[in-house]
Amino acid sequence: MGLRLRMGKREGVARGETFDVVIVGAGPAGLSAAMYSARFLLKTLVVSQDVGGQLNLTNLVEDYPGLGRISASDLVARFKSHAEEFKAKVLTGVRVSDIRREDGIFRITGSQGFDVKAKAVIIAVGSERRKLRVPGEEEFQGRGVSYCSICDGPLFKGRKSVAVVGGGDSALEGALLLSGYVGKVYLIHRRDKFRAKPYYVEQVRARSNIELVLNSVVERIEGSETVERVIVRNKITGERIPLSVDGIFIEIGFEPMREWFEKLGLEVDERGYIKVDEWMRTNIEGIFAAGDCTSAWIGFRQVVTAAAMGAVAAYSAYNYLSEKGLYQPKVELLTR
Ligand SMILES: Cc1cc2nc3c(=O)[nH]c(=O)nc-3n(C[C@H](O)[C@H](O)[C@H](O)COP(=O)(O)OP(=O)(O)OC[C@H]3O[C@@H](n4cnc5c(N)ncnc54)[C@H](O)[C@@H]3O)c2cc1C
Repeated sequence: MGLRLRMGKREGVARGETFDVVIVGAGPAGLSAAMYSARFLLKTLVVSQDVGGQLNLTNLVEDYPGLGRISASDLVARFKSHAEEFKAKVLTGVRVSDIRREDGIFRITGSQGFDVKAKAVIIAVGSERRKLRVPGEEEFQGRGVSYCSICDGPLFKGRKSVAVVGGGDSALEGALLLSGYVGKVYLIHRRDKFRAKPYYVEQVRARSNIELVLNSVVERIEGSETVERVIVRNKITGERIPLSVDGIFIEIGFEPMREWFEKLGLEVDERGYIKVDEWMRTNIEGIFAAGDCTSAWIGFRQVVTAAAMGAVAAYSAYNYLSEKGLYQPKVELLTR
């Protein structure tokens, strides 16, 4: 009911409505797929938790061809408006939980009472933040445990100290950012060398209020109402040290939503990414996948590659619908 009211008024999507293509995820892959799908005159809906996906975690993009240096939020806005220009609908604030075939058509359901039908589905859900899987992590999530320094860092302004975990660009960028907000930052890394770009490493080493805690792993996160300390174990000496902190930022990368994919019946590779062929087809006829959630081009996860996969997935969905005789151009979608 809530969704019917919300969607009816705000997004023009009704419960039970049928689309040619429903795209799950509004990151670069999903929005690119939406632009292409709508341009093929397919009735297209993008449903997502947010718009922009991982681009919300960064400020500048310098390597999207043709655009030079652009703020990440501008790039997201361009992706979205380009898809909408061709009449794709973009519905946000919904987490899709199930996709099942019923009487030859896919039924897609999710939070907020979301419930629509689609002749073809494109999954473009990216990947989710890797967890430490230590005691206290889940308990204190949102109460001092964060997975995004850029998003949550400002909330810690004026605090005494925080910990950042990781050795890549995100962790070091996060530590640098946080060192401007809090008195002290402990940068905890399990190795003695960083994977991050030398530029970040140099800056981190030069920053007086960042203390490096190397060759160390977090064993547990403790506190009462909010995080108060983390227990860190040195991997070489075995020594356990409690660090007093007001928060901990876990920046150790991303991992695929393996369990969910398997629950949906999608075949995954050994790492848990959705297996796709070169046309972005999954093992389920009518379901395609694109972007960081797939087994394609692992090791080169970029906006341009995600967008390319989205375009291919939309083309494949179009071909699939045409071959099955499920495609009829919508005259109302011809008007631009
Ligand atoms: C800090 C950082 C900086 C980066 N900088 C660059 C850069 O400069 N240049 C570059 O090319 N690349 C960069 N990247 C990589 C690039 O952002 C990703 O490769 C790209 O965003 C992947 O796009 P995607 O659409 O596959 O996934 P995502 O961007 O992860 O989008 C996935 C979308 O799916 C939604 N979603 C997930 N699960 C569900 C669900 N169950 N129901 C509904 N919606 C769901 C999410 O809300 C999100 O909107 C950067 C990444 C990070 C983290």
